[in-house]
Amino acid sequence: MPNVQKKNGIEWCHVTWNPLPGECLNALAGSACRKYCYMERLYASFPDLRHPIRVNEKEMHWSPQKPMIMFAFSRIEFLHPDMRRDWQEAAIVQMAKNPHATYVILTKFPWNYPNFDWPANCWLGTTVDGLPHTADNVYHLLKAVPESYLRFVSWEPLLKEPGPFWILPFPPLSSDNAYIPDQYGQLDWAIIGANSNEGAAKPPDRWADILINPCRQMKIPVLVKSNYRYSKRIKEMPGGWVITDDGDLIQTVKPQMELF
Ligand code: SF4
Repeated sequence: MPNVQKKNGIEWCHVTWNPLPGECLNALAGSACRKYCYMERLYASFPDLRHPIRVNEKEMHWSPQKPMIMFAFSRIEFLHPDMRRDWQEAAIVQMAKNPHATYVILTKFPWNYPNFDWPANCWLGTTVDGLPHTADNVYHLLKAVPESYLRFVSWEPLLKEPGPFWILPFPPLSSDNAYIPDQYGQLDWAIIGANSNEGAAKPPDRWADILINPCRQMKIPVLVKSNYRYSKRIKEMPGGWVITDDGDLIQTVKPQMELF
């Protein structure tokens, strides 16, 4: 069954949905993200979770009764090139069966999005963390995914000072320092977070500011995760969802964008 998120869990979703449990293919390939991956910490406590990816049929066919945000495949890289195609397709069929639910996909391989027929109730995102192989991921996401989808970036964990391509695909500054979307449009949401590894250094607020300020210009909602320990509480959601002061994730009639 999906893992219901408590108040100290992932604040922007109601549940995590992992119908393909097992060791992430990206980790097995030796990707550098393995060093900060929370699954590695989980394996230390629950070594039985470390096994080849397989299908959990019960979870695969689980359907929520009411609208909710589901973080899909939070424990693996779903779009890894070595992932079994029939498993990927089965999961996408299940997402299409639940149009009242929102499935949030996050990948380090955004150029693989066009290989699938995504239902409209998916939010499609990518990670940019400061490791060299994610540097162009916003470009790849905006190029690969049509504007009709909700497209987002997760700057988590923020490992270094953000660079010029972290928000828009091309050098974004006009003569008056304004960020101007190009033909690929712009992001619809941004998440900022920190490395949760024990002893990891807190990223400076200044790094988050480098990202938040242009998002303000472009009216992109921003959610700064509690693990960043940023000086202000910023918990903005897209798609008409709101995180209340009590940490509840609720759907509103008016989209969050109108708060700007
Ligand atoms: S891709 Fe994600 S789940 Fe896989 S090793 Fe990297 S951080 Fe962990």
